Amino acid sequence: MNYSKAINDYKQLQGHSALQLRAVLFDMDGVLFNSMPYHADAWSKVMTDAGFNFSREDVYMNEGRTGADTINTASLAQFGKPATQELIDELCKAKCAIFDTYPPTPRMPFALELVQKVKASGLTPMIVTGSGTPTLLDRVQSNFPGLFDENHIISSFNVKRGKPYPDPYLLALERGGLKPNEAIVVENAPLGVTAGVAAGLFTVAANTGPLKDEVLFNAGASLVFPSIQALCDGWEELFNSLK
Ligand code: CA
Repeated sequence: MNYSKAINDYKQLQGHSALQLRAVLFDMDGVLFNSMPYHADAWSKVMTDAGFNFSREDVYMNEGRTGADTINTASLAQFGKPATQELIDELCKAKCAIFDTYPPTPRMPFALELVQKVKASGLTPMIVTGSGTPTLLDRVQSNFPGLFDENHIISSFNVKRGKPYPDPYLLALERGGLKPNEAIVVENAPLGVTAGVAAGLFTVAANTGPLKDEVLFNAGASLVFPSIQALCDGWEELFNSLK
């Protein structure tokens, strides 16, 4: 992979003379946890039961949105009106209830090693997720012990507008006291990539789901890795290129 070209293209596009890396902003589902198959099953079931046309593929295309945004987007597209707050609350609750019947979500292979490498590189790891699944947020500390400061985890509870809006990433920059050229994003979903790029951040994707790489490049990803393991293996080279 040509890291230097991707980095130079980013600097030119955003008007930065240099990257001065201080933090790495990790998405959670599909990056830190291998949770997307569960989310896909739970969301498609709850939405279909509520009368929506909503496949597992639709879950991956909406990945990154908050639950409320996912339901509203589908409601506008399929029924021509936003969902009521009652329906949103009901479906989010039903989805979380199904999610909680599944076995504990495993960490994404090599996610722990990657975050450890990031920290060992002297950088601050942060989490920026559209998730509002308390079960998973609670499991961050036990699965990634000592790696994420509580104040450095941005979830759907912290922002009004979720991905693909830049808001969650902008809040992460604010919380971390960071400028856009001082952090990079690790995402796996097109809407998450769009959010990172909209916040002015160098955005790296790991394609851990069923969509084509092209979808992630089209969303604005500077680099697309085939897995978190590949990104972990390539970390030293990428980090050196970013200096
Ligand atoms: Ca994700």
